[in-house]
Amino acid sequence: MRIGIAGIGGRMGRVLAEEAARAATLVGGIDREDVATPEGTARFPGIAALGEAADVVIDFTHASTVTEHARALAAAGCGWVLGTTGLDAAQETAVDVAAHRIGIVQAANFSPGVALVLALAERIAATLPAEGYDAEIVEMHHRQKVDAPSGTALALGRAVARGRGVAFDTVMESGRHGHTGARATGAIGFAALRGGQVVGEHTLLFAGASEHIALTHRAFDRRVFAEGAVRAALWLATQPAGRYGMEDVLGLR
Ligand code: NAD
Repeated sequence: MRIGIAGIGGRMGRVLAEEAARAATLVGGIDREDVATPEGTARFPGIAALGEAADVVIDFTHASTVTEHARALAAAGCGWVLGTTGLDAAQETAVDVAAHRIGIVQAANFSPGVALVLALAERIAATLPAEGYDAEIVEMHHRQKVDAPSGTALALGRAVARGRGVAFDTVMESGRHGHTGARATGAIGFAALRGGQVVGEHTLLFAGASEHIALTHRAFDRRVFAEGAVRAALWLATQPAGRYGMEDVLGLR
């Protein structure tokens, strides 16, 4: 099993390179020209060459790369483990199109703990009435993070919306500021904190009049995401083309 890493010089890429080399054959990776790659790893000229050399590419880069990576990896017939967050609708569509040709595991968070929290969030939301329990999501990340709310926070919100049987986009309330008026019944609220070197903290709160239920996940080390992504890559090797999530890798659905 040959693994390539897109964004190999980044915070996640460096840990992914270690974990991929431990579990499989690391062929090397790509990054921007001005970014150093980890010592002893091969640098490929671009995503097409990396896709030809690898069975699966693990990709933690930037949303702006997604459309090009989708096309190149589909053309190469190379599996894709996609951890990049902050994708817009057109970029999500590019992933859908590629999934007709190749296997893709996409997750906003590759930690097994978050996959379980998402399943619990959906279950709680399906059980508690939205009129009586206000869903609020608070997340904190390091000061370099470029997208907000985080992909994991959005995944939590989508899980609550699924549980409640409502369209997420119609109930999402993010970035409150000024005279917002009272909270809308059934809204799913988001608050994003940025600072220091926090790897990733998420709390989903169901606030009722007489009780609060809180689900909290704290990642202390990026290795938890890297281990999950490598596990997804190994799992993907035996799957047909299609779009999968971490819940498929873990057998939760
Ligand atoms: P980072 O900025 O440290 O690393 C990203 C790397 O990608 C950088 O080295 C950058 O130079 C490189 N890159 C950017 N554009 C490129 C291009 N066109 N071609 C090649 N390389 C390119 O960021 P990070 O903290 O490692 O996070 C990367 C992404 O992964 C973000 O979207 C982040 O939200 C996401 N992330 C996901 C999970 C998860 O479990 N799914 C966990 C952590 C981070």
